[in-house]
Amino acid sequence: MLVMKTASAYRSIVVLTGAGVSAESGVPTFRDENGLWHNHRIEDVATPEAFERNPKLVWEFYSARRRGAFSVRPNEAHRALAAFSRFCETKGLEFTLVTQNVDGLHETAHMQAGAALPLTMHGRLRESRCTRCERVFPDETIYEVGELPQSPCCRKLLRPHIVWFGEMPHFIPEIENKLEGCELFVTIGTSGNVYPAAGFLMQAKRAGATTICLNKERIPQDRYVDQHLEGAATQLVPEFFKCPA
Ligand code: NAD
Repeated sequence: MLVMKTASAYRSIVVLTGAGVSAESGVPTFRDENGLWHNHRIEDVATPEAFERNPKLVWEFYSARRRGAFSVRPNEAHRALAAFSRFCETKGLEFTLVTQNVDGLHETAHMQAGAALPLTMHGRLRESRCTRCERVFPDETIYEVGELPQSPCCRKLLRPHIVWFGEMPHFIPEIENKLEGCELFVTIGTSGNVYPAAGFLMQAKRAGATTICLNKERIPQDRYVDQHLEGAATQLVPEFFKCPA
């Protein structure tokens, strides 16, 4: 089925983004890195078990990610979604941006546009959390090799405020509630390999939403997609999320 309408034709919209949205800002996707970091599988440095086994290695990994993400800027796709979010707020339309990205680029674009912040379901690189009391702190420190940070509250080990493989993503009840009620669901720049986010497309489809996929390639959940737009996020997103004059 060909869906000719753009996003502003719908009254309630949920958007899910992944690493592909930030690729053109210069943040590598997992695919770009072949799923590896210094010969470690990313799944082996992004788990609670890895942190227990070798917190220094895990902090090195996240310090490298911080270094990469803090030196780049939002691109046209982040900016178009931020402007569209602001547009919806002013018109009384429901718009929810859910991102799997931890790089902070959506947040920067949304703050610049004066729009509400996205639901960062996999956490945020710019924050750390106390392993004892779970308090979350703003933290942009690049920890040097071998350095282990302590929380200011309990003087216990700090961990990145990131949802690791095997942990429960943030905001799930809120997201599920939005998926149940949305007219349009759009997935952008995500490979559909990481659950539960990869299941949102099916959930939205079953709840009756029109579903659109903007991505460089086809995804495994193809059968739940009403319309595919294949290409680069910076081309497709500003076109699809155009704010009407
Ligand atoms: P992924 O690397 O598995 O998949 C990225 C998808 O984006 C692929 O399907 C690819 O074809 C597509 N893509 C690449 N460049 C694109 C572009 N310019 N325009 C449109 N599509 C493009 O990433 P994922 O699905 O997000 O899952 C990996 C997990 O790792 C997620 O939790 C993710 O957030 C995290 N991660 C985050 C970042 C970040 O914060 N920027 C970077 C790497 C991985």
